[in-house]
Amino acid sequence: MISTIKHRTAPTQLLALKALEQRLPLDHPKRANVEMDLMKQKARFAGERRVNYYLAFLPKVMHYRLFYDLRLKDKHDVQLDTLILTTNYIVLLETKHYTEYSEINELSQQLHHKQNHTETIPQPLEQIYRKQIELGNIFAANQLPPIPIYSYVLFTSPFNNIDLTQAPLDSEQMIRIDSLPKTIEQLNHKNDYCYLTNQDIKSLSRLLLEMHKPHSKSPLEIYSISRSDLIYGVFCPNCKYSTLKRNHYQHHWKCLSCSYLGKEDHVKALLDYALLFQKQITNSEARRFLNIQSRDQVYRILLGVLGRPNGHRYSLKTLLHD
Ligand SMILES: [Zn+2]
Repeated sequence: MISTIKHRTAPTQLLALKALEQRLPLDHPKRANVEMDLMKQKARFAGERRVNYYLAFLPKVMHYRLFYDLRLKDKHDVQLDTLILTTNYIVLLETKHYTEYSEINELSQQLHHKQNHTETIPQPLEQIYRKQIELGNIFAANQLPPIPIYSYVLFTSPFNNIDLTQAPLDSEQMIRIDSLPKTIEQLNHKNDYCYLTNQDIKSLSRLLLEMHKPHSKSPLEIYSISRSDLIYGVFCPNCKYSTLKRNHYQHHWKCLSCSYLGKEDHVKALLDYALLFQKQITNSEARRFLNIQSRDQVYRILLGVLGRPNGHRYSLKTLLHD
């Protein structure tokens, strides 16, 4: 049996980066970085969705509880791609997305680091060992039984045409995604002692969810881009980089390039504001961001999408899904 206790939240980061890419002027000096990272995030998300697919084939003898994208806030932040919790053992999976370019990219990153005499890129196995130890420490600090923890670096490819047999598997803990069900089957044979009761499982699940803190850094902080560098307004869904004009009398949005007409396009712009700036907005901030001059128009728009404000501030949290 498989139960997903925590679903993937990666799309929030991906959506924030997409919003930034659309709002960053084409000649902005950070643009190439943002585009490259957006491409990587898209590939990462596609690769992680393939993990979900293979987890459906786990041998049925055990109840597996799945946690995706956990960021545990302890002494150090522990970021776990996938955690599989059973009564007999725990598995950590660090997904590594193998593309035909990844070796070249990694090599050039390492060279870059060497040239600047800064730290070397941590190897995936070292990273996952460190996470395994931190997780063991968290369990010990919470008086949980010393359950075995296994960790694997899992090679996925976001693209179906990549031959994963070429992936550099130089340890038993580096596995290809298609051998995941077999690896879990071996763990089931090896671990016949039941460490956790159902009550332990419940408290452990609660602990992990309580310790989880979603990504809070805006991409503007990450790339040191100022708000005033961005293009404000409501974008046309057809033209991608043109903004729409508001017709105040007919209450719709119009694109002057493609004649698109829309009613609700401000919702996407307000989501961008939440992803890039902050999770609440005032009437005057919304007027500036949506490029609308009328306070009353904006009042009606915000009320319709977000409900009543708290003081002067409307909460944008209902638009986010993390
Ligand atoms: Zn258009």
